[in-house]
Amino acid sequence: MPIQDNEQDQLDLAMQQDATDQLKKIGSALRALRDAVILLNDDDGLEWWNQAAQDLLLLQSTDKGRCIFNFIQVPDFLKYYQEATTHMDAHEGVHLVSWQDPNRYLKCELTPFGDEKILIIYDVTRLQHLEGMRRDFVANVSHELRTPLTVLMGYLENFSDQPDMPAHWRRGFELMTQQTARMNRVVNDLLLLSRIEIEETHEFNEIDMTKLLTHVYDDAQAYNQEYKHTIHLHIDTYDGLYGSEMYLNSALSNLVINAIKYTPKGGNISISWTKTLEGCRFAVEDDGIGIAAQHLMRLTERFYRVDSGRSRTTGGTGLGLAIVKHVLYQHEACLQIESVEGVGSTFSAVFPNNHVRSTAMN
Ligand code: ADP
Repeated sequence: MPIQDNEQDQLDLAMQQDATDQLKKIGSALRALRDAVILLNDDDGLEWWNQAAQDLLLLQSTDKGRCIFNFIQVPDFLKYYQEATTHMDAHEGVHLVSWQDPNRYLKCELTPFGDEKILIIYDVTRLQHLEGMRRDFVANVSHELRTPLTVLMGYLENFSDQPDMPAHWRRGFELMTQQTARMNRVVNDLLLLSRIEIEETHEFNEIDMTKLLTHVYDDAQAYNQEYKHTIHLHIDTYDGLYGSEMYLNSALSNLVINAIKYTPKGGNISISWTKTLEGCRFAVEDDGIGIAAQHLMRLTERFYRVDSGRSRTTGGTGLGLAIVKHVLYQHEACLQIESVEGVGSTFSAVFPNNHVRSTAMN
């Protein structure tokens, strides 16, 4: 018996040693990470950190237990921290400009586990610069194409107006005019997207949504002449929004024009503006061709089309929903898409209460 006890003790000791070795390895790996790693206790105090965190936040051993907000005092971080600790789905992280060096960009990700949290801070400066280069490149190319396109369109229009143009040239000129007009739409949409992305501060004002939606509805009716759909506008609240009237007009019109384009002639389209618990919802419902489930996730990607032939014949650029997504993002709103192939689609823009402006008329 005593021999068996001894064997058990040795086994326990070996397991303990194994666990200690593993812990040491994990500790060394975390310490060696180039990203800052910080363990926080249930009072948001610093429990443990690695060398990268020490260098980034200028921490000293006496800082153990001090609250993280003493070291990162950026409002966006505070907001994200509260969201991440209350909603488990706020895991996307928050991008910040370094408070020590304005040329450095950081991404913070907080993961709560039990009562504690792990905070990882990545240096995303290189990624941010690459993203900036991509944005500038697209903006510059689009800008450079604008002037030659304007010249081309001008001459094409002049030549097409000539009454003595030989008949066998006429078809060619028509095609050239159509294609340059399409290129012009793509360039304009790319420029609009770049502007929305690059602008750091947006000109926001109080928007009378009844007026804006009536305008969107009138434009839709003009576009609808060839399609002959029945379009209804339901305004259930006088609530307005705080935002950019120009960009919102463009985004909401895109959704309505898409409903018109992707619904076979004589369909039904309903546009609505309603109050919800979280804020206000703009929705466009159609009984058109619908979208198969596998496409839904990718619809807001630039140039993603379910059926590129159809999109082209209806004059689409493939950038409409990308513009919608960016405009809504500016307004802290989100795009929801429900669709059944062959039955129809509902595209909704959900605006949070902090962007809603109530009116006394409600
Ligand atoms: P496009 O210029 O091609 O319309 P968008 O970015 O506006 O580009 O839309 C992307 C794709 O999403 C479209 O090509 C189309 O396949 C699909 N789509 C958008 N709205 C609808 C809708 N209401 N019904 C069916 N499909 C739609």
